[in-house]
Amino acid sequence: MLRLAQTDIKYVKGIGPTRASLLETELGLHTAADLLRHYPTAYLDRSKTYTIRSLHDDATDNMPHVQVRGRFVAFNVLGEGAKMRLVGLFSDGTATMECVWFKGVGAMRRRLRTGNDYIVFGKPSFFNRTLQMSHPDVDSPDSVDAGASIHGVYPLTEKLRQRGINSRVIGSAVRQLLASHATIAETLPQSVVESQGLMSLDSAIRNIHIPTTPRDLSAARERLKFEELFLIQTDTVMRARRRRGQTAGYLMPHIGRWFNDFYSQCLPFALTGAQKRVMKEVRADLLSGRQMNRLVQGDVGSGKTIVALMCMLLAVDNGFQACLMAPTEILATQHFQTISSMTAQLGLNVRLLTGSTKTKERRLIATQLAEGTLHILVGTHAVIEDKVEFRNLGFAVIDEQHRFGVAQRARLWAKSVVPPHVLVMTATPIPRTLAMTVYGDLDVSVIDELPPGRKPVVTVLRAQQQRPAVFKAARQQIDLGHQIYIVYPLIDENDKLELESLEKGYDDVCGAFPDIDVAFVHGRMKPAEKDYQMQKFASGKSRILVATTVIEVGVNVPNATTMIIENAERFGLSQLHQLRGRVGRGADRSYCVLMSKQNLAKETRKRLEVMTSTTDGFVIAEADMAMRGPGDIEGTMQSGLPFDLKISNLATDGIIIGRAREAAEKLLDSDPTLGSPANAVFATVLRNSTRRTADWSMIS
Ligand code: ADP
Ligand code: MG
Repeated sequence: MLRLAQTDIKYVKGIGPTRASLLETELGLHTAADLLRHYPTAYLDRSKTYTIRSLHDDATDNMPHVQVRGRFVAFNVLGEGAKMRLVGLFSDGTATMECVWFKGVGAMRRRLRTGNDYIVFGKPSFFNRTLQMSHPDVDSPDSVDAGASIHGVYPLTEKLRQRGINSRVIGSAVRQLLASHATIAETLPQSVVESQGLMSLDSAIRNIHIPTTPRDLSAARERLKFEELFLIQTDTVMRARRRRGQTAGYLMPHIGRWFNDFYSQCLPFALTGAQKRVMKEVRADLLSGRQMNRLVQGDVGSGKTIVALMCMLLAVDNGFQACLMAPTEILATQHFQTISSMTAQLGLNVRLLTGSTKTKERRLIATQLAEGTLHILVGTHAVIEDKVEFRNLGFAVIDEQHRFGVAQRARLWAKSVVPPHVLVMTATPIPRTLAMTVYGDLDVSVIDELPPGRKPVVTVLRAQQQRPAVFKAARQQIDLGHQIYIVYPLIDENDKLELESLEKGYDDVCGAFPDIDVAFVHGRMKPAEKDYQMQKFASGKSRILVATTVIEVGVNVPNATTMIIENAERFGLSQLHQLRGRVGRGADRSYCVLMSKQNLAKETRKRLEVMTSTTDGFVIAEADMAMRGPGDIEGTMQSGLPFDLKISNLATDGIIIGRAREAAEKLLDSDPTLGSPANAVFATVLRNSTRRTADWSMIS
């Protein structure tokens, strides 16, 4: 493989310089090895062609991709702007179906002709009782290689197809390359191949492109998935061990008066078992002499703030300063208020630093930070600006970590000669398999218990037509003294249309509740206006808050008992869960109403029904991931991986991830630096495949 990695893709037979440069720009394939690692995503059994009539009879939601042969009889471009789509009516003589494209409409229309023979490959489904294929692959029959009956279907772009680079071109180039190449050398350590019972790389590559039997194909897939995940796990485990072994951290052995006074005088409730456990885990880190990097995962409302505060008090007890960073000004302010009021009687010096902090206060903060008289600094990104200098920052808390970039965390690290202990708190329940992979080198604590007395939020799905009843129920809650959130999706804050629909929604709400003060917040408002509106709601003056997802993260108004989410079908499950977490924070029964249009697609309905059937964030996250794939669950999460996944799927390959993790640990137990000759090839492959920067490895 190493030699193939040095062969420019243009020298592969059947590629040449023109195609090579297209493959480079469109797919990032540079070398012969890259080509072999460009795996088919599906297989087309050319030995079987379905009739459209049989699809009419049999098509269900779980129909696989199938091939149909026939001609287009008409094309129609429907809709306008973002809603524009191309519909091709396709007939094979037995019946007709529609082929629909939402993207690349112009290009497809130019490429396809009525009357020509085509082979159409896609997943049949019914939409409004019409048989459809959405974005099928369309090839002319003569582009089908007669040689083998099973063909790989390669991920390609529309531009490549226009230039005549289809699955057949890729497939035959791969075949030539494999035929001319004796044996592809193994990349994994032989010990691992044997102990895991894996197919050799040579067989795996050959079978993934040209499967001989279904059994060999699945062995090939398993081998390639394992390899990919094993590389990630080895990388992760190595860095975690290096960090644990090398990075000295501040010792914080004392439990002193700040912590004790807080515990005995200020704590308004008993800690949950899970909160206590996390405290213990952090305590152990503070006694270890090594720098702590710990992720606290806890569902919305599980009480992470109090844990963070108590950890910071421990740092203060040991003579250090602490800081807490939140991703938004609203959240930072709220944390500041919570912490100030909870510690009011202790005389702890807590201050708030955000983008809108006045110069005078900034100066005071700077002085007190330098003197060491400022104990806890709460804020936004402003806290990690270069000019903010601590006397001795010992402990840093980052709330809702996914909103903080890696580079920003690196700056935090630089705030102190010895890096501060870092506690990262996230309310995004990450499925275990994802956590193991993305945060593999962070220690993870879980708060898996909600404070006692919480009643699960009653969640219902309602159609637009039922709005009067929904508003009536909301009115009852207001009459009981409670507050209501009404949230609109605003995917693109710059989109004028969406802003208009939000404003219309606001007008409607004002019309339906003429006697009620309605607060209104969206992301395009000036921070001061936003704060004013939020404050109006938090203080109880406004009984209703109409907002976009700016409220998603962390807002705490326990008196709010109802969350109405408009166009719920446009939100992801994790986001819905976060939104729902805004209610159910007090002792009273709370409600979440998912509003949607009347006729939902089956999949969408199923997705929303996950919300009505459970309130467990982990169950929801798993479901979200299984339905949408890990990339969507948290866009930024994928960027936490050292490289892109080509074949494995974090949602469904949990078992292989576990095996890879164990095997990586075992390998590194016996050869910690991968310096032994037996592992030399693997070590090189590992080095070449990771794109992680030094900064990242230092921080997480
Ligand atoms: P999150 O984990 O979502 O950040 P918070 O820290 O905001 O949750 O806590 C949610 C609410 O639960 C707050 O009002 C907090 O005071 C309360 N709370 C936290 N821990 C407990 C506990 N052990 N018992 C009762 N209430 C608690
Ligand atoms: Mg919180």
